[in-house]
Amino acid sequence: MSIEIKYVTLGMAQTNAYLVGDTETNEAILIDPVEKADLLHKMATDAGWTIKLILATHAHWDHVMASKALKALTGAPFYIHAEAVPMLQVLPQQGLRFFNQEFPDPAEPDRLLTSEPETITVGSIALETLFTPGHAPGHLAFYMRAQGIVFSGDALFAGSIGRTDLPGGDHALLLRSITEKLLTLPDDTRVLSGHGGMTTIGRERETNPFLT
Ligand SMILES: [Zn+2]
Ligand SMILES: [Zn+2]
Repeated sequence: MSIEIKYVTLGMAQTNAYLVGDTETNEAILIDPVEKADLLHKMATDAGWTIKLILATHAHWDHVMASKALKALTGAPFYIHAEAVPMLQVLPQQGLRFFNQEFPDPAEPDRLLTSEPETITVGSIALETLFTPGHAPGHLAFYMRAQGIVFSGDALFAGSIGRTDLPGGDHALLLRSITEKLLTLPDDTRVLSGHGGMTTIGRERETNPFLT
């Protein structure tokens, strides 16, 4: 079993899209179809991988802008939490509201994830869903237990936490999500977040000013 991760930082909000590949089956999962579907698709094909599944941590525009185009390019299904759907459906209006330009339509979700933990698998890639609302409704983190890696979306960053001043944000709820779902992971768990560089659970537990 061999898992490789590639990432690219794209767009006005400098958002990270992660591509998790199984180097034996050459199947991959794309976490957060940020934008530039052709570039995300090429990242996979350059590695010899096929994107089999598209996941979104939450429905803020900067994480789902390429969802429809990437789904069309790859034929891969798109999963998101059920409570993120209302925000997903107003993706074009999110653009008008924040940038005075209409954003593309979102992908139609093929499955709605729930708040109950489940393990999503593609090849030997196994991602456990961690329901971590507070930054946005229906926010999910994805935990690769065998590799000791968590994709934390916009819940937890290196030295920071997600903003909660946007619609549906809830600071107390976010702190509870982080404390109960993320800080309970082993200290050496690597944290790959929606913005910024890598950190570990242990480092954030000790030094994150929002968590002390
Ligand atoms: Zn966000
Ligand atoms: Zn974001």
